[in-house]
Amino acid sequence: MAEIKTIGVLTSGGDAPGMNPAIRAVVRSALYYGFRVMGIKKGYEGLLKGDIEEMSLRSVGDIIHRGGTMLQTARSKEFNTEEGVKKAMAMANVFGIDALVVIGGDGSYRGARDLANMGLKIIGLPGTIDNDISCSEYTIGFDTALNTVQDAIDKIRDTAYSHERCSVLEVMGRHAGYIAINVGISGGAEAVLLPEEELNINRDIIKPIIEGRNRGKKHYLVIIAEGVGGALEIAQQIEEQTGIKSRATILGHIQRGGSPTAYDRVMASKMGHYAVELLKDGKYNRIVAVTNGKLADYEVNEALDMKKSIDPKMLEISKILAL
Ligand code: ATP
Repeated sequence: MAEIKTIGVLTSGGDAPGMNPAIRAVVRSALYYGFRVMGIKKGYEGLLKGDIEEMSLRSVGDIIHRGGTMLQTARSKEFNTEEGVKKAMAMANVFGIDALVVIGGDGSYRGARDLANMGLKIIGLPGTIDNDISCSEYTIGFDTALNTVQDAIDKIRDTAYSHERCSVLEVMGRHAGYIAINVGISGGAEAVLLPEEELNINRDIIKPIIEGRNRGKKHYLVIIAEGVGGALEIAQQIEEQTGIKSRATILGHIQRGGSPTAYDRVMASKMGHYAVELLKDGKYNRIVAVTNGKLADYEVNEALDMKKSIDPKMLEISKILAL
């Protein structure tokens, strides 16, 4: 096995708070163990273009508390072709990169697997606010996103209570409702609509709101995952059918930004360090994950074949506690 001398690091797909502490951990751990480190800008797009710079201990100074990613990120159509992967591999060779740490989601790991098939040694780190990475219970940025949404909910509750209104809040999650179900519980929502579940407005929203009013509730919160959509229409329907004034808020990209929470910083630091330790120990083509609360790693194909879904108990709890 050829010895690893130079590790490249990139962030890919949607940005997430905590990507910076992860980059910092990869760079500093790699330098500590005597590797050279190359920072690749804008994900696979930067790898194709050779937008690559050598990193030093100081390159990652003063980023631990910043949201987003200092390496920037992108979605690259060109890379997603056979020609693109060959070109990216050739560029990795130009810069002497023999191992690559990819911080991103399942799509980014598929790209990394293509590079692994061409001989590059890859490690994936789970970075996305949506927590929708199949092999891991936790993803870097998820905790910050939950806290951002939680803060918004608390503010919205103040005004909803004062006016006896219903707030309909759309949160991120195109295909997965992890943010929605968690903030539904932490924010005390009357109803949570997930992309994973078939929607029945009367059963899932109108009935719990009317029953809640009959039990003496003074305000109402409905959380809708982005993949369900239609927050404005749903607010209108609630108002028409219940007579309760309803307002929709679509939180959007505010959920992606902000300083990473302590939890995300610690986890990103541990995972970035773990990635480098794997490479140091001659292990590669693996995705770093959290399983049963502990750091773990899976072979990339195994990781991509894994399935994950929302714990039905979470849905049950959210319904019981909204009574
Ligand atoms: P997130 O879900 O947080 O946005 P992600 O990593 O899943 O993260 P994608 O946009 O799916 O985000 O993927 C990022 C990049 O990875 C794509 O722009 C593309 O270059 C590459 N990629 C995605 N899917 C594949 C694939 N099937 N094969 C090769 N490369 C891929």
